[in-house]
Amino acid sequence: MLLLVDLDGVVYRQSEAVPGVPAVLAARAAAGDDVVYVTNNATAYHTDYLPRLAGHGAPVGPDRVVTSALASAAWLREEMPGVRRVLAVGAPGLERELREAGFDVVSVGHAATRMHQEGIDGWAAAGHPDAVVVGLDPQMSYLRVAAAADCVRAGAVLVATNRDPIYPVENGYRPGAGAVVAAVATAARTEPRVVIGKPGPYLLQAGARLVGGDLRTAVMIGDSMTDIAAGRAVGARTILTLTGVTTRAMADALPEAERPTRVVADAAGLEAALRELAARG
Ligand SMILES: [Mg+2]
Repeated sequence: MLLLVDLDGVVYRQSEAVPGVPAVLAARAAAGDDVVYVTNNATAYHTDYLPRLAGHGAPVGPDRVVTSALASAAWLREEMPGVRRVLAVGAPGLERELREAGFDVVSVGHAATRMHQEGIDGWAAAGHPDAVVVGLDPQMSYLRVAAAADCVRAGAVLVATNRDPIYPVENGYRPGAGAVVAAVATAARTEPRVVIGKPGPYLLQAGARLVGGDLRTAVMIGDSMTDIAAGRAVGARTILTLTGVTTRAMADALPEAERPTRVVADAAGLEAALRELAARG
């Protein structure tokens, strides 16, 4: 059985493991399940997660983490075969995913600097890219948005890694990739050609392709309704864990059409739900 597993709020919260969950996943992997982690986070390179997951005792392998950055690079390669040069609007992890997928990558910071120093537009400063991929950009600035918007207006394909409006930090929230996407799309007077991350299907499809898994018998495990919507979008079964952003009251209030296959409170509930779903095939 293919298990597509969200990270934050499911396997760990900030730096702490969710009690018992890594062990449940390790037992399922030992029994033959394929465990693939799927995260909207587009700032880190996918293997950067491995030490942390291994440290918590979760089952890992080099090809077991799919980020929306990795899946964006895969989507571009498969769906946009003419794309060679890509403007990366985001953190170094996004640039690295795109470069390792074979693209000629220019960073938005470089393009913004050239715009400023040479007095040229963003499209020229970026070397006429075929696509613009946008993630969470911790260095976001007015000129960076200008450079990216110039490229999209000139015809580059706009790819959003995800549209999460915010992401949680130690003592509150910070703007997510969706805030950066909104700035670029608004200034370019358009919408992204595609949004790769959850709640859409592409991230999970990339995860299933990685291990040759079957999405119809897969189980998406997540702590937010975004995860559940993504699972539903690919026809997978879904388990909502109440170990992250969703409370029991929120889960109880869901309309019929949005309900996950199972709702579990903790690792023991997850273990039981997985055993039951595996028995159904
Ligand atoms: Mg989560």
